[in-house]
Amino acid sequence: MDITDLAKRLKTGERRALARAITLVESGREDHRQKATELLDTLGQEKQALRIGLSGTPGVGKSTFIESFGCLLTGLGLKVAVLAVDPSSARSGGSILGDKTRMERLSRDPNAFIRPSPSQSALGGVARRTRDAVALCEAAGFDVILIETVGVGQSETMVADMTDLFILLLAPAGGDELQGVKRGIMEMADVILVNKADGDLKATATRTCADYAGALRLLRKRPQDPEDFPKAMTVSALEEEGLQKAWEEMQALADWRRENGHFDTRRADQSRKWFEEEVRLGLLARLERDPEMRARLAALGDRVADGEASVAGAAADMLAALKG
Ligand code: GDP
Repeated sequence: MDITDLAKRLKTGERRALARAITLVESGREDHRQKATELLDTLGQEKQALRIGLSGTPGVGKSTFIESFGCLLTGLGLKVAVLAVDPSSARSGGSILGDKTRMERLSRDPNAFIRPSPSQSALGGVARRTRDAVALCEAAGFDVILIETVGVGQSETMVADMTDLFILLLAPAGGDELQGVKRGIMEMADVILVNKADGDLKATATRTCADYAGALRLLRKRPQDPEDFPKAMTVSALEEEGLQKAWEEMQALADWRRENGHFDTRRADQSRKWFEEEVRLGLLARLERDPEMRARLAALGDRVADGEASVAGAAADMLAALKG
């Protein structure tokens, strides 16, 4: 595979080249990994897309929202990429975006690119592949990259760590359900969208939105953001209501952060963190590849398990062996 050629085609925004490049970064094969690294290394960064994380429990309307919101953006002349992080996809054998009937309109749009979640059991692996895919979409000239995740486990933190804005989609609910949203997730959200604000659900959605707005006010203020963020709004993904307003709010926050330097700082912090994570993963992989190291790791693990060595002592022994 000619990486220079692939990089060139990718940069012109050729979708097939992008799909192929993502397949390459998702591959677990060592030779593919080397090619992928070579590709990512040659691309550099010319243009910044706006990376938006979107989370919400199944059924809240994520795919309906992405379909409507994505079409709104392409209608504005923007190129939109949709990626997904679904840690459960390996288990269920499918992925949340695997079903072609989802986002039918958007998937036919020439200015949209939709990619299902890489199926991989370890979240660390999914994280790395998704980050690489983000870099590829950016190099391919996309303006907005939406990263969808389901509201389970660590996936939200991970997505928040690779995006510029984090959006939480919620359903209209009775007041007592407000506690169901974990505080940590509320704290990550830049904008909370209460979906399904239409028909019979409209009044409940409006009430739910007011409840969340109140809850947001009680959270710690973020010195880097304008006074009125994070904020809660109602939308109807189905009736395409409030989406334009939601987009304006997202842009306002992104612009504010750009003007105040926080946008780049956040990205720089994220890059540093992912670099360190990559080194950590690489070191572990190296340990596991080397039979001698693997044996030593297992033996020290046994000693710790049997109470013959302390965790700290055994880890120090292991690390000492790595130096040699
Ligand atoms: P996901 O699992 O989060 O991706 O949710 P879906 O987008 O598949 O939507 C789940 C269900 O909620 C579907 O039956 C949708 O038609 C419905 N739904 C999604 N958005 C809205 C909305 O804005 N209003 C109403 N009334 N229903 C919606």
